[in-house]
Amino acid sequence: MDVVGKFYISIKKKMKLSTEEILSKEILNRDDIISLLKITDESDLEMLFNAANEIREKYCGNEIHIRAVIEFSNYCEENCSYCELREDNFSVKRYRLDADEIIETAKKISNMGFRTIYLQSGEDSYYDTDIIAYIIYSIKQSTDAAVTLNIGQRNFEDYKTWKIAGADRYFLKFHTSNSVLYSMYHKKKNLFEKINHLKYLKRLGYQIGTGNIIGIPHQTIEDIADDILLCQELDVDMASFTPFIPHPFTPFQNKPKADLGLVYKTIAVARILLKNIHVHACNSLEEVEKNGREGALKIGANIIIPDFSTETNNKLLLHPSRIKKMLENTEFISSKIELLGFKIATSKGNSLKLKALMD
Ligand code: SF4
Repeated sequence: MDVVGKFYISIKKKMKLSTEEILSKEILNRDDIISLLKITDESDLEMLFNAANEIREKYCGNEIHIRAVIEFSNYCEENCSYCELREDNFSVKRYRLDADEIIETAKKISNMGFRTIYLQSGEDSYYDTDIIAYIIYSIKQSTDAAVTLNIGQRNFEDYKTWKIAGADRYFLKFHTSNSVLYSMYHKKKNLFEKINHLKYLKRLGYQIGTGNIIGIPHQTIEDIADDILLCQELDVDMASFTPFIPHPFTPFQNKPKADLGLVYKTIAVARILLKNIHVHACNSLEEVEKNGREGALKIGANIIIPDFSTETNNKLLLHPSRIKKMLENTEFISSKIELLGFKIATSKGNSLKLKALMD
């Protein structure tokens, strides 16, 4: 090749692609993802969000899945810098539900029509391998619901036992794919360990979910691009990109909350790149902006996990008035979703990668 040819190729490499050109590519690379995350122009943003919405529609139809979360314990033995539930936060009023209360709640929730029971807690070893296995097995025997566990990083034997007991899905966030930031935020664990756990969970046959936090101190756009790419590498079934919210009595209490626009861009880019996965419109979006969660449904997200924590965080959980309130909340959320033109799904909402086989 002559000098002019080489010069032409090097100039072409340096030329920035337009948003339209990036969105028309079959496969996006890291530079493309970074460019999309950096969009500021209104018409480019519209193009990005429309593209993400089209892909959501192609893979998810117009159905939105509602997961019923039971936050059964807010004790946590970890100390993540950004989290209000961190062990050192003595301002949090801690609670635990016992196994039978959790099972009874799951039955009631299932009778309301929910097809996924999403069991959530901090990393709380009070619930040992057998207790969790008993809860999972009992729920699976008495309901027709899928069980998702979001109870933190445990050991490999636990994951195996719980899979045998009937658990379907495991949600384990890596929070950031930048190992330096990871060790800054998490003193007790390391990123490579977490990634290995996610890979092991996938090998065991769990549908796996993970994700990051947007806007945590010191994070760059490049980090967010790498987070999305890590989700791709892990072949995740579900992903959640949550906004950073500064919580009182945590090391980051004075830091600014996440920029909603960046969270939306992340959700949209993730949908475009990862295509057939479930993407959460997480509850904390409401803390960034009112109706932030509904906004996410319009740009790529397809999962809602209504926050029933005020109904589930104490021993009055099973009182009929609480159940009534929960139903009212659900109806309210459902009607808001339907107003946006979506339909509430009635299936279990298994992994879109397994859908044909399992639903
Ligand atoms: Fe919070 Fe989860 Fe970290 Fe516990 S493990 S401090 S609940 S983020």
